[in-house]
Amino acid sequence: MASILYAIECPCCGRSAFEDDYYKTDEKFIFCLRCGFNYTKTIEKYTKDNIEYKEEKIEGHGIFILVNKDGSQEKIILNSSLTNELLEELKAKVNDNNVNQEKSYLISHENEVFTILFGNPPENFYLSFEEYREKMFAKYGVPDFDFMVPIEE
Ligand SMILES: [Zn+2]
Repeated sequence: MASILYAIECPCCGRSAFEDDYYKTDEKFIFCLRCGFNYTKTIEKYTKDNIEYKEEKIEGHGIFILVNKDGSQEKIILNSSLTNELLEELKAKVNDNNVNQEKSYLISHENEVFTILFGNPPENFYLSFEEYREKMFAKYGVPDFDFMVPIEE
């Protein structure tokens, strides 16, 4: 199905989130790789005259990115506050031999404060959406439609 994917300002943390817009059905997905915020708007019920949508919004409590040595990735969104139990579990995951520790990271996001618990998030992580947009336009050129900010992790 036709969709356009571009970066937007995260409604939760103000950094760069991704939006996937299905312009034919008006369905929408927002996902923030910085704080874990996610939003979905999907069709619940469709009749000839009416479309009912279902909206779901989950505030970001953080994100865990695990990068394996073979390049494959695993993302875990923290939909609630990080517990010690989960922290220990994720630490154990990262200590696996197949994991690229340099590139894996865990961040919590509570009360608008980011805390890097371990690892090295990419440079883009630190940028506000404004700064991110400028960087992308400088790197890839300004797109025909200026809302279509390129996506980069
Ligand atoms: Zn965010």
